[in-house]
Amino acid sequence: MSLKLKLTVGITLIAAIVAGLAAGIIIGGGRMIAEDRLKRPLREAVLSAAKAIDGEKKLPSRLASENENITFVIYTKKGERLLGAPPEGVTVQPTPDSKRYGTVTGENGKVYFIFDKKCDIGGKKQVYLRGYTEYPDNDAVSADIRKTAYVAVPSAVLVFAVLTYLLSRSLLSPISKLSSATNAIIDGSDLSKTIPYPESRDEIYALTKTVNAMLERLDRSFENEKQFISDASHELRTPTAVILAQCELISTSKTEPTGDEYRQAIETIGRQAGRMKQLVLELLELSRIDRGKVEKNFEEDDLSRLVMLVCDEQRELHADSGITLDSSEVDPQIRAQINSSLMIRLVTNLVSNAYQYGKKGGHIKVSLSMEKQFNRKPVARLTVSDDGKGISKEDLPKIWERFYRADNSRTDTGSSGLGLTMVKWIAGYHNGSVTVESTLGKGSRFTADIPLRQQEIRQDEK
Ligand code: ADP
Repeated sequence: MSLKLKLTVGITLIAAIVAGLAAGIIIGGGRMIAEDRLKRPLREAVLSAAKAIDGEKKLPSRLASENENITFVIYTKKGERLLGAPPEGVTVQPTPDSKRYGTVTGENGKVYFIFDKKCDIGGKKQVYLRGYTEYPDNDAVSADIRKTAYVAVPSAVLVFAVLTYLLSRSLLSPISKLSSATNAIIDGSDLSKTIPYPESRDEIYALTKTVNAMLERLDRSFENEKQFISDASHELRTPTAVILAQCELISTSKTEPTGDEYRQAIETIGRQAGRMKQLVLELLELSRIDRGKVEKNFEEDDLSRLVMLVCDEQRELHADSGITLDSSEVDPQIRAQINSSLMIRLVTNLVSNAYQYGKKGGHIKVSLSMEKQFNRKPVARLTVSDDGKGISKEDLPKIWERFYRADNSRTDTGSSGLGLTMVKWIAGYHNGSVTVESTLGKGSRFTADIPLRQQEIRQDEK
């Protein structure tokens, strides 16, 4: 049963009950009002006529009412008629009883209201004055009312049911539209589309918003999956090709390869296998990040010492690069709430890039300072500058993208194009930021701002 039908049946049922009750009240109440209109004048007429004869020595010679619809008769206590005549056809009657309304029915079927009043005649004799007034053919009247009600109530309920159905159809049509739009998007497998919002900002609007958010999330997760597969296959292609080439070279060689040739081939294969391993690890990490599966975990640590350690390590690693690294502007007293292993990767990536893209005999400068800008939380500012090859204006915005390398010919240098993607993500993880200024041929300067206290930020976010 559709929601439309359920609503129509439910509301119509309630309306039918209410209409039935209303009809009952109108019919019953109408009759009471009609009766009251007759009873009151009858009572007043009887009381005033009784007052006139009460205490008289003898019965009056005749009884007449000013109201032509009212007839008076005087009876004894036992119901014997003393004066006047009841309306035509009224024979069977209740014995007189003071101050009480009653009804009598004539032989012709006419109904009369009666009202009695006790009077004293001649000081001793107790008589009853009874007034009669005809009740209009009540059956005919109420039958008319009933007949009207029998037709009017079902017709009204029917009209109500139709109106309710139309109303619920119009109210629920946005839900049908929403459902068919969602189905169309899912069937078409294009989750990047959004469902159009209704004009009024009602519950349907909120539901549309929720469905759109859900589609967006689904789209993002499918896109991430696609990205992972395409990144993985793209990045693993080169080392796999190199390994296969080396194997082929050895196995198809016309002459028996020398020991040196074997060693060289195995070294190349080993290097490529190592690169593949590194790539797989990085890809898995990126996929974890994409799925939002990385929990935030900070500890207070000596950031200055950490930066110095990385500088020393990089200096040693690139000892024969001819590039000097100056870390004299690293403030030795900066402690911050950081994720140390991630922070080591951030600094390492920036400094190793400075070596990798630096020029022979060039200079790298690493600095760390505390920055307290107006109205902002204090941050630790790390800068890594080099006087190397620099980055062109066109490449500058793209260097943060995963697997982006400004110089694509250098794919076999061990660079993956993931380093800066990680740097940006790690800065974001710490609620910080990273920026770059660079001039092609002159050098680059990377600046990372890392907040000193993570708790304060989390409290502010709340
Ligand atoms: P890669 O593994 O290729 O270094 P990154 O994500 O670290 O990947 O860097 C992306 C690209 O940005 C690099 O390929 C390089 O072209 C450019 N780049 C990064 N750091 C520097 C730098 N210090 N000087 C010049 N170019 C840089």
